[in-house]
Amino acid sequence: MAFSTQKRFIAGVTCPKCGLLDKVQAFSDDGIDYRECISCGFLDEMRVFSAPRELETRVNAAADKANQVSAVKLVDPRG
Ligand SMILES: [Zn+2]
Repeated sequence: MAFSTQKRFIAGVTCPKCGLLDKVQAFSDDGIDYRECISCGFLDEMRVFSAPRELETRVNAAADKANQVSAVKLVDPRG
């Protein structure tokens, strides 16, 4: 997405620096989008980062359940 080289105000956007509403205008220069605050002079290059976040799914297969059943025989020696 590229803005026009003509500066346009972005409605509903607050300046990240001074926090004023509707003071940020966007424009494009040499293929790069910028946003500029007319109030405090904040200028920022708008880059679209597509950062894929990979979730590490580690399968904990170390669930060893050693169910050892020991049978006990009761033997009467006097039998
Ligand atoms: Zn500002």
